[in-house]
Amino acid sequence: SPTSLPFRLDDSYARAVPALSLAWSAAPVPAPRLLTLDEGLADELSLDPAWLRSPDGVALLSGQVPEGVTTVAQAYAGHQFGGYSPRLGDGRALLLGELVDGSGARRDLHLKGSGRTPFARGGDGKAAVGPMLREHVVSAAMHGLGIPTTRALAVVATGETVLRETPLPGAILARVAASHLRVGTFQYAAATGDPALLRSLADYAIARHHPEAAEADEPYLELFRRVTLAQAELVARWSLVGFVHGVMNTDNMTISGETIDYGPCAFLDAYDPATVYSSIDTGGRYAFGNQPAAAQWNLARLGETLILLIAEGTKDTEGADGADGADAAVEAATGVLHEFAERYDRVFVDGMAAKLGLAGLDAAATRDVVRPLVTDLLALLQTHGVDWTSFFRALAAGTAGGHFLDAMAFDAWSARRDALLPDDRAAVAARMDAVNPVYVPRNHRVEEALARATAGDLGPFERLLDAVASPYAERPGLEDLRGPAPAGAPRHITYC
Ligand code: AMP
Ligand code: MG
Ligand code: MG
Repeated sequence: SPTSLPFRLDDSYARAVPALSLAWSAAPVPAPRLLTLDEGLADELSLDPAWLRSPDGVALLSGQVPEGVTTVAQAYAGHQFGGYSPRLGDGRALLLGELVDGSGARRDLHLKGSGRTPFARGGDGKAAVGPMLREHVVSAAMHGLGIPTTRALAVVATGETVLRETPLPGAILARVAASHLRVGTFQYAAATGDPALLRSLADYAIARHHPEAAEADEPYLELFRRVTLAQAELVARWSLVGFVHGVMNTDNMTISGETIDYGPCAFLDAYDPATVYSSIDTGGRYAFGNQPAAAQWNLARLGETLILLIAEGTKDTEGADGADGADAAVEAATGVLHEFAERYDRVFVDGMAAKLGLAGLDAAATRDVVRPLVTDLLALLQTHGVDWTSFFRALAAGTAGGHFLDAMAFDAWSARRDALLPDDRAAVAARMDAVNPVYVPRNHRVEEALARATAGDLGPFERLLDAVASPYAERPGLEDLRGPAPAGAPRHITYC
């Protein structure tokens, strides 16, 4: 272990809600070796990349901390595919501590794959190289797309073998997040039946993520509203880039509004709302087109945990029919849930307008003209099995007709769009290319890169990472990373 750290790790979470974590240490790592480090992120965090690459740095990134630094496993509950588990928690993860930058921004430094904790149920507490590099590359892509996400700082190979279906090389991911507070954290706190604990958690979440809520007349209702709107915005932005999260359990939904937990996620090739990649999502609960509803369902579970806190704020306000505080709180929280759909729709339609080169129409035109255009386009893309990502680049280049089996169907739609475009078509194309990615981590390319990395060759992983981290700038030599899986390729299935 390093004898000291060149930066401070704070522990505000453990101090604010001591009942919601357990002090725990990482398992020893026989032969830690750095596989990948996000130097840009290190710079943003004012962490010295050279130190992180040193033996002390690599030891820290694999969980070996100086004496006096307390690492913790966080407690949470969660609905997994709709079924409630009262005690999940970090079964194979640890919070190393919080990094606070010069401007006061606080971020968790967290490890995944650092050994069994008291929360581990069946698992071995370990992680394999492939899935940790997967989180690294997909979260880097998400960040490159400008979508809120946890970030991967580094992946360290442990030198151990972990047993999955086959023996695999082990790894630890070092992750940076606004925090790891989840809907499931609130579910766990609420289930303890200790109102003071729940209040401390809510106050901590407000201070850390939604400080404006503290100024509102009803801070806990306002916290609920801000989490709801942040998630509506997040899921709308997933829709715009064709991202399928795959495991939107309440323990995988953040209070900050960041994307978290890159397990069985994948990006769409052909547009189809029914798309599911995860091997365990047999019912399609988390299919691409169900994500907004799944998010809203999760937020209803968050609202339930907050009802008693919200009720304190509403107990003086008589409901319409003389309802008491609890009824008024339910009414108010239900109203917030309705705001989800409104916000989702606005972000999605505005985003689609930008993708189609129609940004800048006034709001009324967006409502009346863009929405039916989008609805009809989605139907066309689905019918013709058109690749989501490359369609929009082709549309800007004037070659989208080639993506359709029946060019006439597309021509009619295209003429409607043309009629709305300003005269300067080159400017329209440039604006579209600035919001429509060329490169997303296509599943078949991710799998290829991870298989090679698992066999010891990081070249394809680094090349893919480089492409998706700057997704809007088309570069020569990366043509093979642009398109969907070849026609007739087997359907891709992702595993947790
Ligand atoms: P996830 O599906 O990744 O959100 O994980 C759900 C729960 O399973 C969390 O409590 C994890 O800590 C736990 N878990 C997943 N994999 C393992 C593992 N290999 N060992 C111990 N716990 C695990
Ligand atoms: Mg999780
Ligand atoms: Mg996971």
